[in-house]
Amino acid sequence: MISVEEARERILAALPTLPAESVSLAQALGRVAARDVVSRLTQPPADVSAMDGYAVIAADLAQVPATLTVIGEAPAGNAFPDRVGPGQAVRIFTGGPLPEGSDTIVIQENVERDDDRITVNEAVPAGTYVRPAGLDFSAGESLIPSGALFNVRTLGLAAAMNVPWVSVRRKPRVAVLATGDELVLPGDPMAANQIISSNGLALAAFVSAFGGEPVNLGIAPDDPAALDALIAAAAGADLIVTSGGASVGDHDLVSKVLGEGRMEVDFWKIAMRPGKPLIFGRIDGTPLLGVPGNPVSAIVCSLVFLRPALQHMLGLAEDPDRDGQAILETPLPKNDQRQDYLRARLITSPDGATRVRPFDRQDSSMLRTLSLADCLIVRPPFAEAAEAGTSVDILPFFGGLMRV
Ligand code: AMP
Ligand code: MG
Repeated sequence: MISVEEARERILAALPTLPAESVSLAQALGRVAARDVVSRLTQPPADVSAMDGYAVIAADLAQVPATLTVIGEAPAGNAFPDRVGPGQAVRIFTGGPLPEGSDTIVIQENVERDDDRITVNEAVPAGTYVRPAGLDFSAGESLIPSGALFNVRTLGLAAAMNVPWVSVRRKPRVAVLATGDELVLPGDPMAANQIISSNGLALAAFVSAFGGEPVNLGIAPDDPAALDALIAAAAGADLIVTSGGASVGDHDLVSKVLGEGRMEVDFWKIAMRPGKPLIFGRIDGTPLLGVPGNPVSAIVCSLVFLRPALQHMLGLAEDPDRDGQAILETPLPKNDQRQDYLRARLITSPDGATRVRPFDRQDSSMLRTLSLADCLIVRPPFAEAAEAGTSVDILPFFGGLMRV
């Protein structure tokens, strides 16, 4: 058995960062920049007003009340054509270009207007409510670095930079294959003792959520020839993810057939719970990650290994999700040599602290508790018994790459 950290390092070392492709900005949500994105313009392009009000010369307000003559208008998108002279003002709106000669905005709430005359009762410092040209950014500035995620905010920024196309990493193509004689697809006719293959759908959804393109190959029965044929169908994938069959049972073909046959095994068996019989290697040159069949193990192993694998192939510079800590609500016994991942709920207590309560039963077949959980408590190998009130590491259920 190897440690979770070593397994993760070996998986990442075996996977390349994928090549770039161009997409329109409208298609870029959840994609990762493959090149620095450089602004094509300066924003704002000129000095503009930040408020609705009047553009004035600050020096005119040295003595208040001051009365000024309104000589025209400057709405957003339309410059006032003349110069503002002493004793004059221009009606201006948010985003309107500051008229030549003026240097300050007086907001309309602080002005009494009478026909084309305004009276200002309070002086304001020069430059008030003026957004200088380039306040946000200037043409030629690199604002979104290679490796950044296009989320809602960076998409908006790239649009403001007048960048309609961006270079992003190609989505990792991940072939997903469930194995097991007992499995049928959701909705298909079922014989006695068969169960639904939930892993195929869940793992494909996982791949999508974290920026990959899943190819769901369905179910391979526990039969070497069938498994071989389906693996052949995965040719061209960047990664194959299988579920089930990775243990030591007579019918566990991923380890048996592939493990002793065509597959070059990098490692098999990890000191973690759930998920011990995880297998990783290469088949016909394609990396293959075999997660255990128990549905909770399959998803926990995906969080621990598939998520960083996808992020690595995408060249994501910074993990948008962060691990955290929370205060235990109930004591935990000391741990053995396997890193433990316990489904748990988060509770915000009246003092504002985040508390965490593990579910009593942690059987790795129980998807219901996985769906009710907010996070996993991570217990390192050989962790001492933990009293209620101690702080523990948690792995929140992450947001995926489609995010604000
Ligand atoms: P295995 O890893 O093949 O030994 O499977 C472990 C357990 O997970 C068994 O109870 C299987 O029936 C179950 N299982 C395997 N594959 C799936 C799947 N795709 N969906 C749901 N349960 C599965
Ligand atoms: Mg099986």
